[in-house]
Parts: sequence; C-alpha cells; structure tokens
Amino acid sequence: MSYTLPNLSYEYKALEPFFDEKTMRIHHTKHHQTYINNVNNALKKFPQLIKYNINKLIQNLHEIPETERTFIQNNAGGHANHCIFWKGLKQGTQLKKSLRSAIESNFGSVETFKESFSKIAINHFGSGWAWLILKKNKKLQIISTKNQDNPLMKHHLRNLKNCKYPILALDVWEHAYYLKYQNRRIEYVKAFWNVINWDEALKRFEKKIEE
Ligand code: MN
Repeated sequence: MSYTLPNLSYEYKALEPFFDEKTMRIHHTKHHQTYINNVNNALKKFPQLIKYNINKLIQNLHEIPETERTFIQNNAGGHANHCIFWKGLKQGTQLKKSLRSAIESNFGSVETFKESFSKIAINHFGSGWAWLILKKNKKLQIISTKNQDNPLMKHHLRNLKNCKYPILALDVWEHAYYLKYQNRRIEYVKAFWNVINWDEALKRFEKKIEE
C-alpha cells in the first residue's frame, strides 16, 4: 500500500474569496503531494509499516529508527494534517448541536472560542498548525503544533496529558496563505471562519465523544 492524494470534494475555487483558487490548487497538488511522495519513498525501507493507514502511522512513529523518524514524522504528519484540513473546509455551514454546546461550555461562548483560537493561530511562531482537539477527559482544548506535528502523535499525547483527537485544523504555514495574504496571517485566520466545514467538525466530535 502506498498513500495517495485524496480528491477534494469541492473545486479549488469553491472557497473564494476567502481561500483563493490558486493557493488551493498549489497547496493540494504540490505541497500535499510532496509530503505523500516523501513518506512513500521513506517507507520503502520499512515494509512492515505500510500496513498502517496514515493516522495509525503517526501514532506509531516510535517503531521507526531515530535516524529516519523526523523525516517520516514531518512528511506523514504533512499527509495526515492536510487530509483533515481539506475535509474541514466548506462555505455556508453552521456551528450547531453538541459541538456548539461543548464549545460554549468549554470556552464560555462561541465568540471567546473564536478569539482564543485566532490568537493561538496568529501567534504560533513559524510554521505549524492550530487545532481544536478533544482530550480523553472529553474536554475541548485549543493548541498549536510545530511543523507538521499532529495531536495524535505520541510525544504530544505525553506533553499535553491525554490530548487526543483533532476536531478542527488550521494550516498556518506561509504556503497556505502567502499568495493571497502575503505576510498578513491575521487576515487569513479571519478568513478561515468563513470556510470552516462545521458539519465535518461536528461529525468528528460526535464520533469521538461517544467512544
Ligand atoms: Mn499546508
């Protein structure tokens, strides 16, 4: 088995004017594809790992010798993160039901949640991701991770005490916004609130909260 680039369920222009067509196309066909190519190549040395789907692989990085681990962590993380990201984007959905209630009870209000998430995304230094995650104790938390790290990776589980499952992901690498927003990450983060697929976030939340 090797990993393949997932098709988007929408056109590259579907998120205009917030996320532009050109960025979406390059981000998906070039950046994401490169992570996939790299991880497929690297795994040729480790045939025992190709049984794993990408989320299993990033939870089992300890099985990879240290000399190769960082490269695979970065590129497998790149694949896993972008899969979540693309599915999490859509115009015109609403935050509702159990996820809305959980956000309100965890953060006080939807507005407070949005402010906190934006702040973490804007202030994350360098390349990385902002996340809304569901922890083992069923609490929601906002975190950021560096490079292509994913909250499912075990070193994050350790550092963050049971932090667990990504509900919402925002790519804050410059490649995600530079063509349209240049250095203005703040505007990109603001635009993100218009293209969140809340139905997908709710689906992820409900699936995990019931476990
Ligand atoms: Mn990216």
